[in-house]
Amino acid sequence: MTNVKIRLYVEQALGAGQRLTLTKPQSHYLFGVMRQTEGAHLALFNGVDGEWLAQVVNANKRGGELDVVELRRPQADPPDLWLVFAPIKKARTDFIVEKAAEMGARRIIPVQTEFTNAERIRQDRLQAHAVEAAEQCGGTYVPEVAELSKLNQMLDDWPEGRKLMFCDESLEHGAPFDADSKGAPWAILIGPEGGFSASERARLRALPFAHPVSLGPRILRADTAAVAALTMWQMQLGDWT
Ligand code: SAM
Repeated sequence: MTNVKIRLYVEQALGAGQRLTLTKPQSHYLFGVMRQTEGAHLALFNGVDGEWLAQVVNANKRGGELDVVELRRPQADPPDLWLVFAPIKKARTDFIVEKAAEMGARRIIPVQTEFTNAERIRQDRLQAHAVEAAEQCGGTYVPEVAELSKLNQMLDDWPEGRKLMFCDESLEHGAPFDADSKGAPWAILIGPEGGFSASERARLRALPFAHPVSLGPRILRADTAAVAALTMWQMQLGDWT
């Protein structure tokens, strides 16, 4: 297999023999920052068609062109796992999105809870972080980052059949997963810096699809908790084993 150092996410459909025109920022990155020249090889993916080998045919910094050569790896989607979390400070929210994309979340959903400080998010910026994370981790899938929604509304509209791993900082012991649920759609829920309110906790605990879990005897920051919960889920129910 041809060795490549650069992986680039593109929005166009990918197939052998196709010629792609790059956007100005992509051209700037490839030819200005990464100093690629005509004839150079790189890998492309678009989130649905797998990873493809491509070759530079025009290294114009304002709008270069690539030829798609051959399939390198077929598309591999992560398990059907959503990460639902209350946004925190900007850099830590960016971290959560980046790590969720690397660790194999299918969808990333910021939610506003009673104690969430953030009133808005920059969805486009968070989506760009998810793309960058997929480019660097070798994944062929890019999780969608949803717009900010309200936790209660989301629970009202909860899809049938999806289980919820409710990370509840007030629990003292971990609750085991339902081992038979491998392959089922799941979501992980992480609260904000202030934790869940008493009424949110009462509602969450009463939901038939919610599984309250502890992440150990110490209170973790929300970004640490997201990584710990994704690890725990992937090890037991996901594609790590
Ligand atoms: N202010 C809260 C408190 O002192 O109890 C802590 C909230 S914690 C910083 C943010 C979120 O991470 C929690 O709402 C929960 O979802 C998750 N979390 C942190 N530590 C946890 C633990 N030991 N078990 C379960 N979830 C945890």
